Amino acid sequence: MRDLSAGPSLLSVNTATVRKQAGLLEIIEACARHGIAAISPWRDQVAAVGLERAARAIKDAGLKLSGYCRGGLFPATGEHVMAARDDNRRAVDEAAALGAPCLILVAGGLPQFARPGSTPSKDLLGARTMIEDGIAELLAHAREARLPLALEPLHPMYAADRAAVNTLAQALDMADRLDPGGRDLGVAVDVYHTWWDPDLYAGIARAGRDHRLLAYHVCDWLVPTKDMLNDRGMMGDGVVDLRRIRRAVEDAGYTGLIEAEIFSDHWWAQPIDHVLATCVERYRSVV
Ligand code: ZN
Repeated sequence: MRDLSAGPSLLSVNTATVRKQAGLLEIIEACARHGIAAISPWRDQVAAVGLERAARAIKDAGLKLSGYCRGGLFPATGEHVMAARDDNRRAVDEAAALGAPCLILVAGGLPQFARPGSTPSKDLLGARTMIEDGIAELLAHAREARLPLALEPLHPMYAADRAAVNTLAQALDMADRLDPGGRDLGVAVDVYHTWWDPDLYAGIARAGRDHRLLAYHVCDWLVPTKDMLNDRGMMGDGVVDLRRIRRAVEDAGYTGLIEAEIFSDHWWAQPIDHVLATCVERYRSVV
């Protein structure tokens, strides 16, 4: 298991963690100031400053990327199918232009939530078929761009509105069908979404064996969790056995960055330097 106590040389910060405090350029500066190794930026934050300017700022600050957020939201009907396809291709192109190691995919839930305006449906199985078809199509474009796709299973509480891919096993099964023996479609393991899963450790081992572990995201699960989306905990403040999960991820062969990704009304209300300093301190002490 890697020793993280010396400093944040493997720490990445997902830029949504401080999205309420600052724009992307300020976030880049602040992360560099705290010695943080990498970021994972969001498309809207990159768009706000422009792709080229964002790429240059990241490079000038000496930061790496742990991913690019995000593509996906595949289930759609009517004209929204084409719009989803075009949008996802642009996401791949942007990720490649930024030099990101992968594009994070959040699959999408029922079509009316994934792509508003689509015909409302309760057909979750149908949504999963749309997801698989969408990834299959995007994969061809991603291969041309030489940009791996990282499918991130989300906690089942999001099955309707955010992602109908809810376990690591489900994501890996999909990857096996769409990218057999390949390295173009992998998974992102996020402790917030997967910590509860009785098959988590088997899934991590399998993902490692198949070379599909592309990203590792940390935060914590608070009890009680007061908001499904925006009450993620800072590492160490909740009940996730972070050390045990990281050991499993690293035992499975993962040598990449560790990304702190905290959507939290509490942490969004704190000064950016306090949030980043706390991320570094917790990364060193509890991750
Ligand atoms: Zn994540």
